Amino acid sequence: MLVSATEMLKKAKAGHYAVGQFNINNLEWTKSILLQAQEMNSPVILGVSEGAGKYMTGYKTVAAMVKAMDEELGITVPVALHLDHGSYEGAKACIEAGFTSIMFDGSHYDIEENKAKTEELVKLAHSKGVSIEAEVGSIGGEEDGVVGAGECADPDECKTIADLGVDMLAAGIGNIHGQYPANWAGLSFETLDAIQQKTGEMPLVLHGGSGIPEEMVKKAITLGVSKVNVNTECQLSFADATRKYIEAGKDLQGKGFDPRKLLAPGAEAIRETVKEKIELFGSANQA
Ligand SMILES: [Zn+2]
Repeated sequence: MLVSATEMLKKAKAGHYAVGQFNINNLEWTKSILLQAQEMNSPVILGVSEGAGKYMTGYKTVAAMVKAMDEELGITVPVALHLDHGSYEGAKACIEAGFTSIMFDGSHYDIEENKAKTEELVKLAHSKGVSIEAEVGSIGGEEDGVVGAGECADPDECKTIADLGVDMLAAGIGNIHGQYPANWAGLSFETLDAIQQKTGEMPLVLHGGSGIPEEMVKKAITLGVSKVNVNTECQLSFADATRKYIEAGKDLQGKGFDPRKLLAPGAEAIRETVKEKIELFGSANQA
Protein backbone atom coordinates (compact mmCIF):
# COMPACT_ATOMS: atom_id res chain seq x y z
CA MET A 1 0.00 0.00 0.00
CA LEU A 2 1.70 3.16 -1.25
CA VAL A 3 1.45 5.97 1.34
CA SER A 4 3.44 8.98 2.53
CA ALA A 5 5.94 8.39 5.35
CA THR A 6 4.20 10.73 7.79
CA GLU A 7 1.99 8.31 9.73
CA MET A 8 4.42 5.38 9.78
CA LEU A 9 7.14 7.61 11.26
CA LYS A 10 4.85 9.20 13.86
CA LYS A 11 3.92 5.68 14.94
CA ALA A 12 7.56 4.64 15.00
CA LYS A 13 8.61 7.63 17.11
CA ALA A 14 5.81 6.98 19.61
CA GLY A 15 6.55 3.24 19.64
CA HIS A 16 10.35 3.63 20.01
CA TYR A 17 11.32 1.70 16.92
CA ALA A 18 12.57 2.78 13.49
CA VAL A 19 11.41 2.21 9.92
CA GLY A 20 14.12 1.15 7.46
CA GLN A 21 14.74 3.06 4.27
CA PHE A 22 16.27 0.67 1.77
CA ASN A 23 17.55 2.18 -1.46
CA ILE A 24 16.48 0.59 -4.73
CA ASN A 25 18.40 0.29 -8.00
CA ASN A 26 16.22 -1.90 -10.20
CA LEU A 27 13.33 -4.37 -10.27
CA GLU A 28 15.11 -7.09 -8.25
CA TRP A 29 15.96 -4.69 -5.43
CA THR A 30 12.41 -3.37 -5.25
CA LYS A 31 10.83 -6.83 -5.32
CA SER A 32 13.14 -8.23 -2.62
CA ILE A 33 12.50 -5.33 -0.24
CA LEU A 34 8.73 -5.30 -0.76
CA LEU A 35 8.39 -9.07 -0.29
CA GLN A 36 10.53 -9.07 2.84
CA ALA A 37 8.66 -6.17 4.46
CA GLN A 38 5.36 -7.89 3.67
CA GLU A 39 6.56 -11.21 5.12
CA MET A 40 7.53 -9.47 8.37
CA ASN A 41 4.45 -7.23 8.44
CA SER A 42 6.70 -4.17 8.59
CA PRO A 43 6.28 -0.66 7.17
CA VAL A 44 9.07 0.19 4.73
CA ILE A 45 10.53 3.11 2.81
CA LEU A 46 12.00 2.63 -0.66
CA GLY A 47 14.78 5.19 -1.16
CA VAL A 48 15.75 6.45 -4.61
CA SER A 49 18.82 8.64 -5.03
CA GLU A 50 18.90 11.03 -7.98
CA GLY A 51 21.62 8.86 -9.53
CA ALA A 52 19.53 5.69 -9.16
CA GLY A 53 16.50 7.53 -10.54
CA LYS A 54 18.50 8.50 -13.61
CA TYR A 55 19.83 4.94 -13.92
CA MET A 56 16.27 3.58 -13.92
CA THR A 57 15.56 6.04 -16.82
CA GLY A 58 13.69 8.63 -14.73
CA TYR A 59 11.37 9.22 -11.79
CA LYS A 60 8.24 8.47 -13.79
CA THR A 61 9.54 4.99 -14.60
CA VAL A 62 10.38 4.40 -10.94
CA ALA A 63 6.99 5.59 -9.68
CA ALA A 64 5.12 3.51 -12.27
CA MET A 65 7.14 0.38 -11.48
CA VAL A 66 6.76 0.69 -7.71
CA LYS A 67 3.05 1.48 -7.90
CA ALA A 68 2.35 -1.48 -10.19
CA MET A 69 4.58 -3.88 -8.26
CA ASP A 70 3.00 -2.91 -4.95
CA GLU A 71 -0.38 -3.72 -6.46
CA GLU A 72 0.53 -6.90 -8.31
CA LEU A 73 2.43 -8.40 -5.37
CA GLY A 74 -0.58 -7.63 -3.17
CA ILE A 75 1.51 -5.63 -0.68
CA THR A 76 -0.63 -4.52 2.26
CA VAL A 77 2.05 -3.06 4.57
CA PRO A 78 2.61 0.73 4.30
CA VAL A 79 5.24 1.54 1.66
CA ALA A 80 6.64 5.03 1.01
CA LEU A 81 8.45 5.83 -2.22
CA HIS A 82 11.02 8.40 -1.16
CA LEU A 83 13.55 10.57 -2.98
CA ASP A 84 16.90 10.33 -1.17
CA HIS A 85 19.11 13.47 -0.98
CA GLY A 86 17.04 15.36 -3.50
CA SER A 87 18.03 18.67 -5.04
CA TYR A 88 15.43 21.45 -5.20
CA GLU A 89 14.62 20.55 -8.83
CA GLY A 90 14.72 16.80 -8.14
CA ALA A 91 12.26 17.16 -5.26
CA LYS A 92 9.80 19.01 -7.48
CA ALA A 93 10.17 16.44 -10.25
CA CYS A 94 9.48 13.55 -7.85
CA ILE A 95 6.36 15.18 -6.43
CA GLU A 96 5.18 15.56 -10.03
CA ALA A 97 6.10 11.95 -10.91
CA GLY A 98 4.04 10.42 -8.10
CA PHE A 99 6.56 9.77 -5.31
CA THR A 100 4.85 9.71 -1.90
CA SER A 101 7.78 11.20 -0.01
CA ILE A 102 10.80 13.38 -0.76
CA MET A 103 13.99 14.48 0.90
CA PHE A 104 15.28 17.92 0.14
CA ASP A 105 18.95 18.05 1.07
CA GLY A 106 19.74 21.72 1.48
CA SER A 107 22.58 21.07 3.92
CA HIS A 108 25.18 22.47 1.51
CA TYR A 109 23.39 25.85 1.42
CA ASP A 110 23.76 28.35 4.25
CA ILE A 111 21.01 27.97 6.83
CA GLU A 112 18.91 30.88 5.48
CA GLU A 113 18.81 29.48 1.96
CA ASN A 114 18.21 25.94 3.25
CA LYS A 115 15.32 27.33 5.28
CA ALA A 116 13.76 29.28 2.38
CA LYS A 117 13.94 26.37 -0.07
CA THR A 118 12.75 23.81 2.49
CA GLU A 119 9.80 26.03 3.43
CA GLU A 120 8.71 26.32 -0.19
CA LEU A 121 8.99 22.55 -0.76
CA VAL A 122 7.09 21.75 2.48
CA LYS A 123 4.10 23.69 1.10
CA LEU A 124 4.31 22.06 -2.30
CA ALA A 125 4.77 18.52 -0.91
CA HIS A 126 1.98 18.81 1.63
CA SER A 127 -0.44 20.22 -0.96
CA LYS A 128 -0.02 16.87 -2.77
CA GLY A 129 -0.09 14.66 0.34
CA VAL A 130 3.64 13.98 0.05
CA SER A 131 5.89 13.81 3.13
CA ILE A 132 9.18 15.69 3.27
CA GLU A 133 12.54 15.16 4.95
CA ALA A 134 15.04 18.00 5.38
CA GLU A 135 18.70 17.90 6.34
CA VAL A 136 20.88 19.98 8.60
CA GLY A 137 24.62 19.39 8.92
CA SER A 138 26.05 17.36 6.08
CA ILE A 139 26.36 13.59 6.38
CA GLY A 140 29.91 12.46 5.71
CA GLY A 141 31.19 10.12 3.05
CA GLU A 142 30.24 9.96 -0.60
CA GLU A 143 26.77 9.94 -2.11
CA ASP A 144 26.35 10.32 -5.86
CA GLY A 145 29.74 12.01 -6.09
CA VAL A 146 29.15 14.53 -3.29
CA VAL A 147 31.65 14.06 -0.46
CA GLY A 148 30.86 15.31 3.05
CA ALA A 149 33.03 15.19 6.17
CA GLY A 150 30.62 13.80 8.82
CA GLU A 151 29.94 16.92 10.84
CA CYS A 152 27.58 17.31 13.79
CA ALA A 153 24.50 19.47 13.21
CA ASP A 154 23.73 22.54 15.32
CA PRO A 155 20.63 21.69 17.45
CA ASP A 156 19.29 25.26 17.12
CA GLU A 157 19.49 25.08 13.33
CA CYS A 158 17.69 21.71 13.54
CA LYS A 159 14.87 23.35 15.45
CA THR A 160 14.63 26.16 12.88
CA ILE A 161 14.19 23.64 10.05
CA ALA A 162 11.91 21.31 12.08
CA ASP A 163 9.61 24.26 12.79
CA LEU A 164 8.97 24.67 9.06
CA GLY A 165 6.66 21.65 9.27
CA VAL A 166 8.87 18.95 7.78
CA ASP A 167 7.81 15.37 8.55
CA MET A 168 11.28 14.02 9.35
CA LEU A 169 14.69 15.51 9.90
CA ALA A 170 18.13 14.22 8.98
CA ALA A 171 20.84 15.70 11.16
CA GLY A 172 24.53 14.88 11.03
CA ILE A 173 25.74 13.18 14.22
CA GLY A 174 29.10 11.94 12.94
CA ASN A 175 27.50 9.33 10.63
CA ILE A 176 28.80 8.84 7.11
CA HIS A 177 27.66 7.24 3.86
CA GLY A 178 29.30 4.14 2.46
CA GLN A 179 31.67 1.91 4.38
CA TYR A 180 32.96 3.18 7.73
CA PRO A 181 36.74 3.62 8.09
CA ALA A 182 38.57 1.74 10.87
CA ASN A 183 39.36 5.01 12.68
CA TRP A 184 35.73 6.28 12.69
CA ALA A 185 34.94 8.15 15.93
CA GLY A 186 31.38 6.73 16.26
CA LEU A 187 28.03 8.50 16.59
CA SER A 188 27.77 11.59 18.77
CA PHE A 189 24.92 10.69 21.15
CA GLU A 190 25.43 14.00 22.90
CA THR A 191 24.53 15.82 19.68
CA LEU A 192 21.60 13.47 18.99
CA ASP A 193 20.23 13.97 22.49
CA ALA A 194 20.51 17.77 22.19
CA ILE A 195 18.73 17.69 18.80
CA GLN A 196 15.95 15.48 20.15
CA GLN A 197 15.45 17.82 23.13
CA LYS A 198 15.10 20.80 20.78
CA THR A 199 12.89 19.15 18.16
CA GLY A 200 10.54 17.15 20.42
CA GLU A 201 8.21 14.88 18.47
CA MET A 202 10.04 15.23 15.16
CA PRO A 203 11.07 11.81 13.78
CA LEU A 204 14.85 11.93 13.29
CA VAL A 205 16.64 10.15 10.47
CA LEU A 206 19.93 8.29 10.69
CA HIS A 207 21.70 8.24 7.33
CA GLY A 208 24.60 5.93 6.54
CA GLY A 209 23.05 3.02 8.44
CA SER A 210 25.31 0.44 6.76
CA GLY A 211 28.04 -0.67 9.11
CA ILE A 212 27.11 1.26 12.27
CA PRO A 213 27.52 -1.21 15.17
CA GLU A 214 24.15 -2.65 16.26
CA GLU A 215 24.38 -1.29 19.79
CA MET A 216 24.88 2.25 18.44
CA VAL A 217 21.85 1.90 16.16
CA LYS A 218 19.71 0.68 19.07
CA LYS A 219 20.86 3.55 21.27
CA ALA A 220 20.16 6.07 18.49
CA ILE A 221 16.60 4.70 18.22
CA THR A 222 16.07 5.20 21.96
CA LEU A 223 17.20 8.82 21.46
CA GLY A 224 14.56 9.64 18.83
CA VAL A 225 15.77 8.13 15.55
CA SER A 226 12.66 6.80 13.75
CA LYS A 227 14.11 6.13 10.29
CA VAL A 228 17.40 4.46 9.43
CA ASN A 229 18.78 4.55 5.88
CA VAL A 230 20.44 1.44 4.50
CA ASN A 231 22.02 1.38 1.07
CA THR A 232 25.59 0.08 0.91
CA GLU A 233 24.87 -3.08 2.90
CA CYS A 234 22.32 -4.36 0.36
CA GLN A 235 24.79 -3.61 -2.44
CA LEU A 236 27.54 -5.58 -0.70
CA SER A 237 25.22 -8.55 0.00
CA PHE A 238 24.03 -8.60 -3.60
CA ALA A 239 27.58 -8.41 -4.99
CA ASP A 240 28.87 -11.09 -2.63
CA ALA A 241 26.13 -13.62 -3.45
CA THR A 242 26.44 -12.95 -7.18
CA ARG A 243 30.23 -13.38 -7.07
CA LYS A 244 29.88 -16.72 -5.26
CA TYR A 245 27.40 -17.98 -7.87
CA ILE A 246 29.73 -17.09 -10.74
CA GLU A 247 32.92 -18.24 -9.01
CA ALA A 248 31.28 -21.62 -8.41
CA GLY A 249 30.67 -21.80 -12.16
CA LYS A 250 26.92 -22.12 -11.68
CA ASP A 251 26.20 -19.81 -14.59
CA LEU A 252 27.86 -22.43 -16.83
CA GLN A 253 25.76 -25.33 -15.57
CA GLY A 254 22.52 -26.07 -17.45
CA LYS A 255 20.58 -22.82 -17.88
CA GLY A 256 22.40 -21.12 -15.02
CA PHE A 257 23.04 -18.15 -17.29
CA ASP A 258 19.30 -17.33 -17.35
CA PRO A 259 19.14 -13.86 -15.76
CA ARG A 260 16.34 -15.03 -13.49
CA LYS A 261 18.71 -17.68 -12.10
CA LEU A 262 21.83 -15.53 -12.24
CA LEU A 263 20.25 -12.70 -10.21
CA ALA A 264 18.36 -14.94 -7.78
CA PRO A 265 21.14 -15.43 -5.17
CA GLY A 266 21.74 -11.66 -5.04
CA ALA A 267 18.02 -10.95 -4.68
CA GLU A 268 17.80 -13.52 -1.88
CA ALA A 269 20.83 -11.93 -0.17
CA ILE A 270 19.12 -8.52 -0.23
CA ARG A 271 16.10 -10.10 1.50
CA GLU A 272 18.38 -11.51 4.20
CA THR A 273 19.97 -8.08 4.82
CA VAL A 274 16.55 -6.40 4.94
CA LYS A 275 15.35 -9.08 7.37
CA GLU A 276 18.29 -8.46 9.73
CA LYS A 277 17.71 -4.70 9.61
CA ILE A 278 13.95 -4.93 10.23
CA GLU A 279 14.71 -7.11 13.26
CA LEU A 280 17.33 -4.65 14.50
CA PHE A 281 15.11 -1.60 13.98
CA GLY A 282 12.12 -3.27 15.69
CA SER A 283 9.59 -2.54 12.92
CA ALA A 284 8.35 -6.13 12.41
CA ASN A 285 4.61 -6.52 13.05
CA GLN A 286 4.15 -2.73 13.20
CA ALA A 287 2.37 -2.39 9.85
ZN1 LIG B 1 22.00 9.91 3.23
